[in-house]
Amino acid sequence: MFTKQTIRDIDVHGKVVLLRADYNVPIEKGKITDDYRIKQSLPTIEYLLGRGAKLIICSHLGRPTGPNDTANSLFPVAKRLKELLKRDVEFVPDCVGDRAEKAAAKLQNGEVLLLENLRFHAEEEKNDEAFAKQLASLADVFVQDGFGVVHRAHASTEGVTHFLPSVAGLLLEKEVDTITNVMHKPDRPLAAIIGGAKIADKIDILHRFIELADFVAIGGAMANTFLVAEGIDVAQSLYDKADLPVAKDILRKARAEAKKRRFIFAIPRDGVVAHKVDKSVPTRIVDWSAHVIADIENYPHRPPTRASHILWQEMILDIGPFSGSFIAGGVQLANTVVWNGTMGVTETDGLQGPVGPYAHGTELVIEALLGQFGHKPFTVVGGGDTVGYIENRGLVPYFGHVSTGGGASLELMAGRKLPGVEALQDKK
Ligand code: ADP
Ligand code: MG
Repeated sequence: MFTKQTIRDIDVHGKVVLLRADYNVPIEKGKITDDYRIKQSLPTIEYLLGRGAKLIICSHLGRPTGPNDTANSLFPVAKRLKELLKRDVEFVPDCVGDRAEKAAAKLQNGEVLLLENLRFHAEEEKNDEAFAKQLASLADVFVQDGFGVVHRAHASTEGVTHFLPSVAGLLLEKEVDTITNVMHKPDRPLAAIIGGAKIADKIDILHRFIELADFVAIGGAMANTFLVAEGIDVAQSLYDKADLPVAKDILRKARAEAKKRRFIFAIPRDGVVAHKVDKSVPTRIVDWSAHVIADIENYPHRPPTRASHILWQEMILDIGPFSGSFIAGGVQLANTVVWNGTMGVTETDGLQGPVGPYAHGTELVIEALLGQFGHKPFTVVGGGDTVGYIENRGLVPYFGHVSTGGGASLELMAGRKLPGVEALQDKK
């Protein structure tokens, strides 16, 4: 499936290798809070060093305002990399110019440099030719391994490939291979669980999965827009008015697909609501579809209308237990599941323990994906917040493939070409 040359196809002994990694990791007060991306870069680094390369690593971090934006310095990454590699990693306080050139010239076989944030230079994102050339001048070979950035044509993803022989690293190969395989010849039935904040970010993959998958379930804030499109009053819930026509269009397309073949498109039937995003504010379940919980709880009386309505001051912050169970059922029938986007607001901690008040829907989906109900499908997980959540829960090793790229994985799934991959040399 992967049609580009990789580091396995070239001889790197004694060569200066410029490695583009994606070390855009969350840092709070100088501390890295999630090092998944750094860990995922290790196999390529170890492969190159083991074969006697002189290694120069470059990356971006955050959205720096200029060259002295110390909050966005890659220095903490150099420290963490040193611990993980158990070897010295020299940090160079600029990615081009005098200091970078001097450090590169001194490099010995098996030694590592990490250059300062590429985006300290505005030329990086502009894909400036002179800047790309300067960067390339440090090395003999370019290796692209930053899957999270290959959907952008920047100096360090596209420009640099005009000046150096350019091949893929092992992480890039694994990401592209796994994701394209799932989209082209999945082990069916294929399910897609799409959540998170905005429909706009995920329109293309929604269309793609309606054509491709056997089961599509929607959660998160983006589900609210579908609910509004279905005439449900979501009160204070976050939703996108501008995306209402898109939601209606997707629902129409999904219904048409369900008439043609065995296909399920599920939007939430119940939700967890509260009047404030605050772990000490009580939540309740609103069952706007079947009214079963309310009927049972109030038997033999008629349930109050609030049981099936979101009150004006409330908002939906998670999918409810019916919706979660329905998704879990779909997962039981699937052999491959793509999951992107949390089912609710997962950032809020719980009063006791790590699972917050609006994370139970996401937790139920995770249990299903990991085989708690008997069947464990192959899982592909993507999205910064989604991956961040399973990282915090310590569950990454139990999933099939956990992608390091948010936007890049979405674009690849949508069938788009990634400029940073296209620019690499084709396999012979
Ligand atoms: P990813 O980064 O995994 O692709 P997104 O960025 O699309 O996911 O969405 C994750 C964000 O969506 C989180 O910040 C989460 O708090 C938010 N979110 C999910 N459900 C809701 C909801 N019901 N109301 C408000 N925000 C939500
Ligand atoms: Mg996100």
